[in-house]
Amino acid sequence: MIYNEDFETLPREVMETLQLKRLKQVVQRVYHTVGFYRRSFDNAGVQPDDITSLDDLKKFPFTTKQDLRDNYPFGLFAVPMSSVVRLHASSGTTGRATVVGYTRRDIDTWSELMARCLVAAGVTKNDILHNAYGYGLFTGGLGVHYGAETLGASVIPISGGNTKRQIMILQDFGPTAICCTPSYALNLAEQGRAMGVDMKALKLRVGIFGAEPWSEKMRAEIEDALGLAALNIYGLSEIMGPGVAMECIEDRQGMHIFEDHFLVEVIDPATGEVLPPGEPGELVFTTLTKEAFPLIRYRTRDISRLLPEPCRCGRTHIRMDRITGRSDDMLIIRGVNVFPSQIEAVLMGVEGLGPHYQIIVDREENLDTLEVQVEVSEKLFASGDEVKVLQGTERRIVKDIKDYLGISAKVKLVEPKSLQRFEGKASRVQDRRRI
Ligand code: AMP
Ligand code: ZN
Repeated sequence: MIYNEDFETLPREVMETLQLKRLKQVVQRVYHTVGFYRRSFDNAGVQPDDITSLDDLKKFPFTTKQDLRDNYPFGLFAVPMSSVVRLHASSGTTGRATVVGYTRRDIDTWSELMARCLVAAGVTKNDILHNAYGYGLFTGGLGVHYGAETLGASVIPISGGNTKRQIMILQDFGPTAICCTPSYALNLAEQGRAMGVDMKALKLRVGIFGAEPWSEKMRAEIEDALGLAALNIYGLSEIMGPGVAMECIEDRQGMHIFEDHFLVEVIDPATGEVLPPGEPGELVFTTLTKEAFPLIRYRTRDISRLLPEPCRCGRTHIRMDRITGRSDDMLIIRGVNVFPSQIEAVLMGVEGLGPHYQIIVDREENLDTLEVQVEVSEKLFASGDEVKVLQGTERRIVKDIKDYLGISAKVKLVEPKSLQRFEGKASRVQDRRRI
């Protein structure tokens, strides 16, 4: 099923013509309404008229998170506040929050795109949707909510937290679909089991999970724990919120980017050079239709790659792979560049570990230290010859981290359920160094 057949299946050429028309409009508009863009284009020696093909976008400067911070809170808005009907903000991991605004039409567009995502997951108006993304300044809750209402599904605005009550509602209201962060899905499953609830017997058929990085291994675990099909959704507040890209239930390999609204590029984060489709790099988005908060060439810091192969679902929108890391969550440990996702990949390759881990970076006597704490699975924990097996597993992880990443780590296996759980986005790295 496709929500907006006309726009989601446009032939490439027609799509590019539409993108070019919209790109010209947005570049003109920001140049004339937002002081920041006028200055930034002028400094780079480019004018809106320079856009004669999609390729010309390359000549335009990037917009960065720092630019958003410098213009905090409303400096990049392209409409007067009287036209803004909603504000959201992203907490961000570092520094000031970034603030985003929406006109009524922006909210309509967002609602449609979220409805497209739900339909791509096989959700219909007959479904009951348990929406456990946080409601509030975070875009997750309200974004999904409006999309579900636009589609006509029955949405339960449960938001994050109060997990016991969530489990009661999952049993009593019988939702068939669920939205939350993947870590919260695991958290729900675990607490449900602890309460003696058969979480697989719930009516949940499909889950739409995103807002944080996760892996294929986590997908398998969530599917197994909750008895549903788990799909990946991607978005960021700056570009809109959830609903920038979504996996389809037919193929489940990569997320379709709604290209009639967002133009995507992948760049080399070090040089800014645009990379050919298929190469991994940093995602850069230009919004094509947003009114209140248009962004030109926004550097997301998210590392992924584009998957240009056609999809069997019939959508012609290009897909993006899972996010494998962020160019700014890179840790430099004793001079070695390490992405948390690389450590996760090592852990994924080792038998007997649960999906929960913490990375702790510290500094002792001017030397960086890396400690990885990881929960063992219930099965391994319960097994008889525990100590020997645990020691072997620990040694194996230490060796793999050394072999794959070139750094020495201290590895601590901990009991199931002993690490912190999260209701929204998981935060798995603690950098305690004071430099
Ligand atoms: P926020 O603006 O607070 O919603 O955060 C957006 C960020 O969350 C993105 O830039 C990504 O780093 C991350 N994110 C969102 N969806 C996903 C996803 N499906 N997989 C991995 N990371 C994601
Ligand atoms: Zn598809």
